[in-house]
Amino acid sequence: QLLVATNFIKNIVTEDVASGAVHEVITRFPPEPNGYLHIGHAKSICLNFELADEFHGKTNLRFDDTNPLKEDIEYVDAIKADVAWLGFHWDKLCFASDYFEEMYHRAQILIKKGKAYVCDLSADQIREMRGTLTEPGVESPYRNRSIEENLSLFEDMRNGLFPDGSKVLRASINMSSPNLNMRDPVLYRIAHAHHHRTGDDWCIYPMYDYAHPLEDAIEGVTHSLCTLEFADHRLLYDWVVSECEMKSVPHQYEFARLNMTNTVMSKRKLKQLVDESIVDGWDDPRMPTISGLRRRGYTPESIRTFAREIGVAKNNSRVDERMLEHFVREDLKLKAMRTMAILRPLKVVITNYPENQTEWLEAENNSENPEMGTRQIPFSRELYIEYDDFMENPPAKYFRLFPGNEVRLKHAYFIRCDEVIKDEHGMIRELHCTYDPETKSGSGFTGRKVKGTIHWVDAGHVLPVQFRLFEPLVDTTEDDSEDAFLHRINAQSLQILQGFVEEQLCDAVPYDKFQFFRHGYFSVDPKLSLPKHPVFNRVVSLKSSFSV
Ligand code: ATP
Ligand code: MG
Ligand code: MG
Repeated sequence: QLLVATNFIKNIVTEDVASGAVHEVITRFPPEPNGYLHIGHAKSICLNFELADEFHGKTNLRFDDTNPLKEDIEYVDAIKADVAWLGFHWDKLCFASDYFEEMYHRAQILIKKGKAYVCDLSADQIREMRGTLTEPGVESPYRNRSIEENLSLFEDMRNGLFPDGSKVLRASINMSSPNLNMRDPVLYRIAHAHHHRTGDDWCIYPMYDYAHPLEDAIEGVTHSLCTLEFADHRLLYDWVVSECEMKSVPHQYEFARLNMTNTVMSKRKLKQLVDESIVDGWDDPRMPTISGLRRRGYTPESIRTFAREIGVAKNNSRVDERMLEHFVREDLKLKAMRTMAILRPLKVVITNYPENQTEWLEAENNSENPEMGTRQIPFSRELYIEYDDFMENPPAKYFRLFPGNEVRLKHAYFIRCDEVIKDEHGMIRELHCTYDPETKSGSGFTGRKVKGTIHWVDAGHVLPVQFRLFEPLVDTTEDDSEDAFLHRINAQSLQILQGFVEEQLCDAVPYDKFQFFRHGYFSVDPKLSLPKHPVFNRVVSLKSSFSV
């Protein structure tokens, strides 16, 4: 069996399997249910699931639900739906809260070994006494409590005898360790808060640095992948696993977080956008959340390819959001039906075409994928074209419609603009054109050439629809940091247009995807659409200057 190792974590796993150090690769994706998942999480999801898959291992979906104040069952359900939609099947569905009893028991083991103590200092005092990189910390006056006293105080903490913030359980390690995380870190805090799963069973909750390694060890996780900011927590991670005498020994590896241009990538900030109603919920199509990308029309395949292609680096960087767009274009190119939609309609009357007559023209459904077949589209005396495809006084090299000029109507005929009809305010109301029956598309006409091809729909067979076009939510070009992002919100990030699509699209259902000729890829919005009245979100425009 030949395994091609393309990232450093895969190299490690490959070696562990080859040396026999690891028999079955077990990974986990451990979200805290305090918000919806974003594209950064998708990177972690793909990494964990694909790594285990490749080595015929297993991946757990584990909720790191140790902070009841910020967590909610709504988030648990949304996260499960998002991971499943991305196309991954977890082996076990786990909750850190299921291990609270065991974690408590392991803390008692630490106390009995003299490795943990109950401390009455306030959070501020603990922080002040921790010292700095250049100054050692100061030991807590409670550090030398007896084992008996610590055991009974810890039990009293659990039994709710103390108010929030009055006591913590701390590890007893080394207040002058060069690694600040080793300076008697807090393991448990008191929080009289209702937990979405354990209710009021607990009023003490374990801290991340204590809970996470135990969760991994309990589940037999072999490779615990996390983002770079946890690199200097690894020493503590290993300390917890070892001092708590866990049988299974997981190892932590760090990789770079994904950041993207023109958006923010943290549940806290995204929650702010939702709470302040800057967006229409977590699944607003402008959000970098999985649910937002899904609603916008992104496919799971495109997100997985993106996650794979950006790779696993050891240094943080900001990925150009156009790279994500590139992959959804690639994915939809051969799958999406190509039809005509008019986003800003302008009426055209073909004055030499008979009234009350409709002919049906053949149009291929995807010019790059003949397997998608053809359809019949109507053509008659009144049409709509794109307002932007006409100019009364065009600049040089303008090849679309202008008075006296001839263009090709996609799938139909050449038309020439003869007359511009305006209303009493001087606004263009409609164009009067003539068509040349000789020039029918597919007829082999070679008599003369035109430089421009524009799209259109037949006015008698249209479906009026709403189009929603998006621009980046946040501008990150000036300032590379995500701080103060609320001041850089793009007020023009949503544009709503009322226009027309081919009538047959009335049967489109949520998430159906189309390429609208020259406008880009669109997807039917699941929240705003009604039966027979689809609302179209633009997933992405057709072209980009970006290539990979
Ligand atoms: P946020 O700051 O956005 O809330 P988080 O790290 O607190 O993110 P968790 O729910 O704890 O969110 O994350 C679950 C997993 O996803 C963790 O293993 C975390 O390292 C990973 N993850 C989170 N954000 C990113 C990102 N931007 N890029 C890659 N992995 C990420
Ligand atoms: Mg976290
Ligand atoms: Mg967070």
